[in-house]
Amino acid sequence: METHELTITKAAEGLKNKEFSAVELATACLKRIEERNPVINGFITVCTESALEEARKADERIAAGSASPLTGVPFAVKDAICVKDVRSTGSAKILDTYVPAHEATVIQKIRQQGSVLLGKNNCDAFGHGASNENSMYGPVRNPHDETKVAGGSSGGSAAAVADNQCIFAIAEDTGGSIRQPASFCGLAGLRPSYGRNSRYGIMPMASSLDTVGPLAKTVEDVALLMEVMAGNDPMDPTTVSDPVPAYTHHLRKEIKGLKVGVPKEYFETEGLDGETKQIVEEKILQLKTLGCELVPISLPYTKYAIAVYYIIVPSEDSSNLGRLDGIRYGVRKEGENLFDVYGNTRAEGFPEEVKRRIMIGTYALSAGYYDAYYRKAQKVRTLIMQDFERVFREVDVIATPTSPFPAFPIGEKSDDPLQMYLADAFAVGPSVAGIPGLSVPVGFTKAGLPVGLQVLGPRLQEERVLRVGYHIEHLS
Ligand code: GLN
Repeated sequence: METHELTITKAAEGLKNKEFSAVELATACLKRIEERNPVINGFITVCTESALEEARKADERIAAGSASPLTGVPFAVKDAICVKDVRSTGSAKILDTYVPAHEATVIQKIRQQGSVLLGKNNCDAFGHGASNENSMYGPVRNPHDETKVAGGSSGGSAAAVADNQCIFAIAEDTGGSIRQPASFCGLAGLRPSYGRNSRYGIMPMASSLDTVGPLAKTVEDVALLMEVMAGNDPMDPTTVSDPVPAYTHHLRKEIKGLKVGVPKEYFETEGLDGETKQIVEEKILQLKTLGCELVPISLPYTKYAIAVYYIIVPSEDSSNLGRLDGIRYGVRKEGENLFDVYGNTRAEGFPEEVKRRIMIGTYALSAGYYDAYYRKAQKVRTLIMQDFERVFREVDVIATPTSPFPAFPIGEKSDDPLQMYLADAFAVGPSVAGIPGLSVPVGFTKAGLPVGLQVLGPRLQEERVLRVGYHIEHLS
């Protein structure tokens, strides 16, 4: 059977109507992975046997009439998210042989529904990057053009879904890592509000910004996954106890009268690709046909978002990564004394970008520099949050391009960290503010590369963001 064009909803229908079994579906995906992974490189670990076993159990559950829409649907998980008894490297050799004894809450919830885990996805090491070239397991190729990057840091997850190797993927977004690969690979991807989904079991990158969310082929699939993933978790005290809306039920409700903010800073950015701008602007204009009102807005602190993000994130990164000594799970390197053992091991086990962030973060947090960098960045972070709060008193959602440009050639920015950071221009402001952002595919450039539109909403308003995204997806 062909896995092409199968969304979660269609797969669930096919399974229910006995058009195919869960074992057949898992086998088809595994075959596709076997054929295509040598080219695309979206998977670091493939769980062939356990996947087939899980699929057999799913078939039993379907036969017993106790299936949910996710039962028997094959998926994959970013390698920076822990799955019990499955190797989870975070794409860095320092954890090359790490097999967690615990499982991320969101993954547990999805597996309880009977979804079939196919394997773990390549990503930029510990989520650091915008192209998936900072992986110690090789770069990921974009299925739409194999000479281009798939985006990052969740490039492997996005490429695997876009290449029909799995039906959906679960990834992490700190500063765009779900939204930007979604946009580069033509998928829907949601970064939920900070605190909406449990971060328990996610390898921490920047703890005050990290979120975990879905990558899928349609907004409806994303909404379905959020219903399962969201909610309070005693294992993550930052999760909120607000009830989880039935996201899928609200999707089709009309959006007439909704005010859509169009922030000038996101359309006047230097480096914004002309075709991307045009495709996104045309789509936003079309919202008028659904009765939306377009409101020009300004988010003046946007221009500091990258600077603020690249102080706060490396600072939290350097602190979080301090725990990795490489002694048990990776490339342990010997030395004259304990200090040398740690030094040599960490030098070998982390890629360049991770080391760069540890150094920047350690510097920004050190006595004498803390006030000038970390504390100042936190103050400007508040101003960025207030920018959004003020604007959301006037408008219901905000629409922007997800990324300033479509997928770029492999190698183009890998030696230039600053150019790589600029790829995050539209993703990091909302991240710093802790608000939800959804990337929806809205078209292709002349060269055939997908373009994504980002819908932003006030904190915990995923329902509204998904509804607007659903209508945008269905505009002709
Ligand atoms: N490009 C961002 C960074 O490198 C993405 C991080 C993320 O969301 N994990 O920090």
